[in-house]
Amino acid sequence: MTRSVDIHGVLSARKLKIAQRRQALKEKYQHDLQDLREEEKQIDAALEVIANAVQPYLCKRCHGSGNIRVCDAAGDMDDEICPVCHGTGVRMDDGWQDDV
Ligand SMILES: [Zn+2]
Repeated sequence: MTRSVDIHGVLSARKLKIAQRRQALKEKYQHDLQDLREEEKQIDAALEVIANAVQPYLCKRCHGSGNIRVCDAAGDMDDEICPVCHGTGVRMDDGWQDDV
């Protein structure tokens, strides 16, 4: 006695499993994405706190980068070490920096 194969039933069951797996992957992806977005927000908040905390200590001339943009004799722009903070980016408390 031979058994007939229900190809339609087998493929339909396989298709259902694929759809379930796809849905599970989609839900995991969305959950992981939400976790990453939340961590990004927390890092942004921490960076903002840091930026606000150091703001009073940044060199007023270079704004903390330690470099300034200058124009040479040929008219080309170039970076140079900040002459006020000497490349540290840190505001000097000499008082004369307010004139920069
Ligand atoms: Zn500077």
